[in-house]
Amino acid sequence: MRRSGVRLGALVVVLLLLLVAAFAGTARAATAPPSKVLVVVMDQMHPEYAQQYNMTNVLWLEKHGAYFPKAYVGDMASETVVSHNVMVSGLLPKHMGWSDEALRDTNDVLGGGANGIYITGDLSYSQFQALVAAGDYPKLGTYLHAKYPGSIVACVGEKSYQVRSMTAGSADFGVFLGSATNSNAQLAALLGGKYRPPSGAPNTAAVPAYITGDTRFTVNSDADYNDYGTNDMSPAWIYPEDGDRMIPGNITGHLGGDNWVADATIKIMQNENWSGLFVNFGAIDKVGHMWGGGQVDTLKKYEWDPNSIYNMVHEPFIAKNADVQLGRLIGELKATGQYDNTLIVVVADHGSTAATKNFFGTNAQGAGDYNWYHGDSLTDGNYYNDPLHPVAPALNALTDLTNVSFTYASTAIEAWLTDFSMTQKLAAATVMQARPGVFATYVKNDAGTAYTPTAVNTKGMPKAERSWFRSHGQELVDTMAWSGSADVVGLLRDHTSYGAYGDHGGAQQDVQSIPMVFYNPGLKTVKYKSAARLVDLMPTIMRTMGIDPTANMDGKAYYLKTK
Ligand SMILES: [Zn+2]
Repeated sequence: MRRSGVRLGALVVVLLLLLVAAFAGTARAATAPPSKVLVVVMDQMHPEYAQQYNMTNVLWLEKHGAYFPKAYVGDMASETVVSHNVMVSGLLPKHMGWSDEALRDTNDVLGGGANGIYITGDLSYSQFQALVAAGDYPKLGTYLHAKYPGSIVACVGEKSYQVRSMTAGSADFGVFLGSATNSNAQLAALLGGKYRPPSGAPNTAAVPAYITGDTRFTVNSDADYNDYGTNDMSPAWIYPEDGDRMIPGNITGHLGGDNWVADATIKIMQNENWSGLFVNFGAIDKVGHMWGGGQVDTLKKYEWDPNSIYNMVHEPFIAKNADVQLGRLIGELKATGQYDNTLIVVVADHGSTAATKNFFGTNAQGAGDYNWYHGDSLTDGNYYNDPLHPVAPALNALTDLTNVSFTYASTAIEAWLTDFSMTQKLAAATVMQARPGVFATYVKNDAGTAYTPTAVNTKGMPKAERSWFRSHGQELVDTMAWSGSADVVGLLRDHTSYGAYGDHGGAQQDVQSIPMVFYNPGLKTVKYKSAARLVDLMPTIMRTMGIDPTANMDGKAYYLKTK
């Protein structure tokens, strides 16, 4: 009995050891870091849109993933062309080579002469590349290429500047909608005149033939064919839709907007050995600019018709549609067996505020660009200094100053001066602080490393607005400070804009609050209390994928718990 007992005991021990080994194997497999990352940027999405518009895919990820409900942009200027490079550099804007919609090229990196003014959104791919090279920093794609040699990193989005800035110095290629044309008579007839073919970064030739050679990727871009009423209705007409550029439309086989972005991304997933895909769904942003976003874009206010294609230019349809497209990308990962080894990240580049209290721009057809930009630049010459498009009266006193070289006005106002001595900065700040809606003004210090407040007036400000400003105002303004940033900055009150009716760029809580969630089957479901910022995205992605940084980043690498 004893002997057999011993034998039985030994057998049990062996079995237990086998079981432990089996579980260890399973545990190792489940916690193996993901080898691919899919970043989906819901452009201008407010965190509450997920509930408000029943975005079931975003809600599912937030419920099951590593979710940061207190996430915020964490830097300025809170704009597309800035945020996307923050996400893939892990750097604050002040260290990137551009920190706003305009920059002063103090060191003549772009070759147009020292101190030349450039509009960032109109820079070419090679100019973005030159700025990244001058900053001498690795981007996420650099690390992905090193860890997974031979793998492809690509960016996809409707907007050229978003894709160019994100692709530069990081990705193998980027895909966006090219300029409107009618060069192919057959396509022009099919697509209502002007259409947009696919283009990309570094150039169209870099875009794979499975996209450029497929006429599915040409879309209608003709406002005469259909502007969905946005060109004739205030306030959407400030920044109207042209055809199916940012919305799907209803031309079978040629859907535009986020459907186009999802289709191109799926093609890349099917054709490439990829390690990084950075995708921008731009429609929420476009519609938010036009009507003011979810706070005001309701069925009641604009007589939204759920049975009409006109619903496509309103937030209830377009936010839900962006979520449906996200679902298609996740479905493709599952269908191709890549779901388990992909880290899915859903985030926004900024939120927005609706100008329900004060709109100080010009409320007229196509006024958007002229509301935002004013002055001469090396990218656009005197295009934004056009007497036919005078700046909005509220900004006049500032732009009329002979020493003001360029201004950008959205939900903050920034001014670049010709003579940027401290005396002149203080003189311009005095004029800035008297612009309506401005409650705080800052001048850049002489070293160019931070901003100094010159006037702050929070009188009559609701408690929540004042408390957000006290916690974040100085922090956010300082993230822009470098030699090329604006000399004078004015922060605007909530629900105040000089650009489009719904706008971003500033430090307001509504503009700064964003959704942020990471998901992989191997990650634990956790609702994190930390107020993560966009600059933390890349270090956190790298830590989760087991990639060690070789250069400093400004962001924090959050440890996402594994199962
Ligand atoms: Zn954006």
